[in-house]
Amino acid sequence: MAKNTNKCSYCGRGGDAVEFLVPNHNGSAAVCPDCINQLHDMIVQYMGDIASGAKAKKAKDAGIDLNKVPKPKEIKAFLDQYVIGQDAAKRYLSVAVYNHYKRLAQEHGDDDVDIEKSNIILVGPTGTGKTLLAKTIAKLLDVPFTIVDATVLTQAGYVGEDIESLLTRLLQVADYDVEKAERGIVFIDEIDKIARKGDNPSITRDVSGEGVQQGLLKLLEGSIVNVPPQGGRKHPEQKMIPVDTKNILFICGGAFDGIEQKIAHRMNSHVVGYSTDSRRRHINKDDFMRHVAPQDLKSFGLIPEIIGRLPIVTALDRLDRDALRRVLTEPKNAITRQYVKLFAMDGVTLEFADDALDFIVDKAIEFKLGARGLRSIVETIMIDAMFEVPSADEKTFTVTADYCRRKLDEAGFDAPAV
Ligand code: ADP
Repeated sequence: MAKNTNKCSYCGRGGDAVEFLVPNHNGSAAVCPDCINQLHDMIVQYMGDIASGAKAKKAKDAGIDLNKVPKPKEIKAFLDQYVIGQDAAKRYLSVAVYNHYKRLAQEHGDDDVDIEKSNIILVGPTGTGKTLLAKTIAKLLDVPFTIVDATVLTQAGYVGEDIESLLTRLLQVADYDVEKAERGIVFIDEIDKIARKGDNPSITRDVSGEGVQQGLLKLLEGSIVNVPPQGGRKHPEQKMIPVDTKNILFICGGAFDGIEQKIAHRMNSHVVGYSTDSRRRHINKDDFMRHVAPQDLKSFGLIPEIIGRLPIVTALDRLDRDALRRVLTEPKNAITRQYVKLFAMDGVTLEFADDALDFIVDKAIEFKLGARGLRSIVETIMIDAMFEVPSADEKTFTVTADYCRRKLDEAGFDAPAV
């Protein structure tokens, strides 16, 4: 091939007219510094166009029209239809979800203000409605949503699921549309079960708990995570899907059994029943929960970095007798309503007498089952009726306290495992 390095192959100017010429690999062409500069500008312009096009497409795809997004008050009103009480948690959740949409809709202008996400942690005894709140929120949203359990996770190298698999379910509900999943919400249940066993970082009795927290941190703070599309453990043949967690909202829930002692200690008070020291303030155990603060989560064994990534901490109240009674009948999906519907499908009108409802609540309290126990108690009471009534002639059936007592006795009802 003829050597052609004595003039610029782009502008055609000869070696005398330019500063120098840069030949290509085999000397068949050359380019001058002016043309290199011009080409560089063209590339920068081209890349910029691609980037802004992609940005515009992303905003369009996100399709977030804030006018259509329910306002915090509307979100709370929706939650009120399904979840009894828990006002504080509902307010926090409503605001967090609304802000999540705002963040997705935000335009990145010149003001350098970037609305960051505020992941949430819900602290409260088991059976108080943490998961129910999360599930109810999911009904309302049009972003992918999933609930995952922190206890199945382990540090890489241990038996269990890799931390990245948390996002597998999210990908699945988003039909593997990665961009959609990247705008989703993940509820991580039982976050307290991966707490380190001591406040002191040098105590490493529970290495895997801390390891899982470290792994989780990566997800919470926002990074590109390689997700196994089928979940479980990573293995070499499985092709990973990269997911950016920057915009995924994480809501965590946990019972944090015994945290009231930590709160009491911090507040220099004592949980009623634990102290005879009259100089200390005595506050009811449940009231402590309301004062839960990030430092208590640290005392419980969450690492500070995780706590920093879960800036909103809110507590759920234990359900008292009145709340349990309402749980039985008031929520849209209340358990008694479900039975009424089941019977109505056989043309039978089912009624629960007031004394029956009181009896069921008393049993749930007696067995310390909380709201979780209501269902198993009602199931046990109703099983015979559900067996007999569809074949019987009577078109009404009333559940009384006597009937409940008899059925529980016959079943030898003992506190079921929950
Ligand atoms: P947890 O706080 O342990 O996540 P769940 O949300 O799973 O508790 O509650 C278990 C069941 O108890 C729910 O499915 C629901 O039927 C009932 N329940 C618990 N709390 C409430 C509540 N505040 N309002 C209505 N139902 C509730």
